[in-house]
Amino acid sequence: MNKSKILFERAKKRIPGGVNSPVRAFKAVKGDPPFIKEARGCWMIDEDGNKILDLIGSWGPMIIGHAHPSIIQAIQETAQKGTSFGTPTRGEVFFAEELCSAHPALDMVRLCSSGTEATMHAIRLARGFTQRDHIVKIDGCYHGAHDSMLVKAGSGVATFAAPGSPGIPADVAKLTLTAPFNNLEVIQEQLSKYDVAAVILEAVPGNMGCIIPKENYLSDLLSLCRSHGTLLIVDEVMTGFRLARGGACEYYNIKPDLVCLGKIVGGGLPLAAFGGREEVMSCLSPKGAVYQAGTLSGNPLAVAAGRATLELLTPEFYDRLNATSEKIDKKIRPLVEAKDLSMNRVGSMFTIFFRADAPTCFQEVLECDFEAFGRFHALALEERLYFPPSQYEAVFLSASIEDSDIEFFAAGIESALSQM
Ligand code: PLP
Repeated sequence: MNKSKILFERAKKRIPGGVNSPVRAFKAVKGDPPFIKEARGCWMIDEDGNKILDLIGSWGPMIIGHAHPSIIQAIQETAQKGTSFGTPTRGEVFFAEELCSAHPALDMVRLCSSGTEATMHAIRLARGFTQRDHIVKIDGCYHGAHDSMLVKAGSGVATFAAPGSPGIPADVAKLTLTAPFNNLEVIQEQLSKYDVAAVILEAVPGNMGCIIPKENYLSDLLSLCRSHGTLLIVDEVMTGFRLARGGACEYYNIKPDLVCLGKIVGGGLPLAAFGGREEVMSCLSPKGAVYQAGTLSGNPLAVAAGRATLELLTPEFYDRLNATSEKIDKKIRPLVEAKDLSMNRVGSMFTIFFRADAPTCFQEVLECDFEAFGRFHALALEERLYFPPSQYEAVFLSASIEDSDIEFFAAGIESALSQM
């Protein structure tokens, strides 16, 4: 990894920590990050020419695999006609229609450019609609890097051992109440004690590692919110179009008030969305008074990539992806359990936990052996497996994984675990 190391040293002089998003750095594990120069299907090639099996898929978006010809073609054809106009375009209308017909909770949708923006705006909208200020978020869930959500957040925030972040005014943080995942009692108390605008959560958290919701947790949470006039926001930035075409809401048969989408919907370009019930979405400017805007929102290139992606996400696609995920599970779970470790998987998302019992909430994730995870990560990279560089993250599989890749994957894990 000589070229990557040299680039990382250069990067650190001009980019804080050498990366443009903290989780890309390998601070929580051993070694330095490989710099990737290209990728195709489920394989990435780094600057030194190493071919590495990609298990993060750009942290979720690349469900189809890298550089799919029809997505590349859609981007190229659109770029020929201009890349941004700052006016309404035909593509975004069709895209909004496609999103609303795919997702059970969407009557209307607004496009933006990142998952952070989507959750930030959904929260403002919930506050504007309910005329209430408090929000309940779940410990270990991550909803992007904006002030009100960096409270007991997972992902990079947890990885770098900060309960939140300096720079967030106490007056803002105090409006964010937190509760454990898979537990309704704490939320019930909070909803009774405070006027809560919304509860926001990842239906299947991926940002404290992959955690499985207990039976009826999500539907009971929705009923609880309804009984207090509180909106439920399901952040599907990771799970949207991953667990099913209609995301976790289709998978678990729930219809929240608002949902946030990102990652897969942009086909690898910066695009996200939030949407939900017409009554709530109608409060958004210019129809309503709650302000939200973005110069590049609904950017034609991102919309073209998103539409080309959605076209490929057929029922047969999900059958194949889920069959691949099950095959991987069958191969890997016995290896993991033989070492007294555990694994949680929902569809094509999974995490190996360095703890004997699979965790059900953030508190239990904190009991993992993080030092052992760090050693495993380095050994796995030597086997050319690119696992997410933190115990608080999930693997995202793509449908481009072939049987031979599964053999490579399982052999690599077996070798890494045997050396620990
Ligand atoms: N919500 C969830 C569930 C996420 O996993 C992420 C990012 O990983 C975000 C929101 C923020 O999205 P973005 O990084 O596009 O701002």
